[in-house]
Amino acid sequence: VASPAPLRCDRDRLWDRLAELARVGATPDGGVGRLALTDEDRAGRELVSAWAAELGLHERADRIGNLFWRRPGEVRDRAAVMAGSHLDTVPDGGRFDGAFGVLAALEAVQTLAEAGTRTAAPVEVACWANEEGARFPRVCTGSGAFAGAMTEEDVRALRATDGPAYGDELDRLGLAGPGAPGAERPSAYFEAHIEQGALLERAGIPIGVPEGIRAVRYLEATFEGEEAHAGGPMEDRRDALRAAARAIEELHALAAGDGLLAGAIVAAGRLEIEPNVPTVVPGRVRAWLCVRPAGLEGEEGWAGELERRLGAVAGELGVIVEVRAASRNGPARFDERAVALVRQGARALELETLHLVLPVGHDAGYLAGVAPTAMVLVPCRGGVSHSPDEWAERDWVGDGGDVLLGALRAAARG
Ligand SMILES: [Zn+2]
Repeated sequence: VASPAPLRCDRDRLWDRLAELARVGATPDGGVGRLALTDEDRAGRELVSAWAAELGLHERADRIGNLFWRRPGEVRDRAAVMAGSHLDTVPDGGRFDGAFGVLAALEAVQTLAEAGTRTAAPVEVACWANEEGARFPRVCTGSGAFAGAMTEEDVRALRATDGPAYGDELDRLGLAGPGAPGAERPSAYFEAHIEQGALLERAGIPIGVPEGIRAVRYLEATFEGEEAHAGGPMEDRRDALRAAARAIEELHALAAGDGLLAGAIVAAGRLEIEPNVPTVVPGRVRAWLCVRPAGLEGEEGWAGELERRLGAVAGELGVIVEVRAASRNGPARFDERAVALVRQGARALELETLHLVLPVGHDAGYLAGVAPTAMVLVPCRGGVSHSPDEWAERDWVGDGGDVLLGALRAAARG
């Protein structure tokens, strides 16, 4: 069956809406601050709701504040094809992260409607609650609960950095609906997003098509040495902090090497030092190591190797190390057929694509466990995100909107 001629979004309308939405929660330095479940977050949702209402979309929210706008399909009881992202931001973020995915989805639905294009399945725009985890310290809360990764009770009990509980803010703002999260599963999910990296811009390629999202593993490494006077003898010390420093270097060496951790993205973001006193050689150090392996296999073959190597470098200093898995998330592998629809959408528009594996999480990571999922990435200047300097050009955004539209239309038509 021949594909119909591709439709194109109204890229000026998409661009203007991004600018208008950026005025909600605008910060003095040109950024956007719409923290989750604040008055600004609600105002942002209301603006998008108004656009969706003009289009006659049916709106509903679930009990944890995920918000959906639906255009019906032609075939009864067909599960919706869904596209979306999030409207919350970090305290001083940009106008594209999240907002682009929601507004591109809305633009796609509006283009279908204005072209009189009917789809067999309903097409639904999704706005996931608290993606950033900036105010309630749990990333992708809404999509995670939708996918069954956390319970409604746990979500409602989340404490904001400024005090109130998630559930109380949800009630205060009236953002909860009657439906259970995840009760209505989509038949496919697509998410458009800025890359938040510089691969596309550097390669001069307009569309990124991720195969999936890297796993994120946090490991807690405890180094047991022996406290001593900082002015005492240098021989026979068992300096736990020195061992931790060597271990962190070793972690980086493993990531830079060609072994089991080759190509991993790693960091040591937190240390707890005991007793943490200038005149005392540390006797005990806990280090939090973050590892994002390069592949999407999800095996932990590297974990034993890492523990052995850290043990070896610490052992040279007479320090014992114990490594414990603190948290694990992913990897998420996107669906081959959904990914192919994104690629076809780009090809129909003669847009070149780059294939990659994402290092950072998105709502699509959770949705991949619920429905066939794929993403559409567009470049962002210098790879900068979570900053007032976050920027994408009108045509980058417009191309992404067109590709999302093509994928949605193809998934919903049959
Ligand atoms: Zn985002």
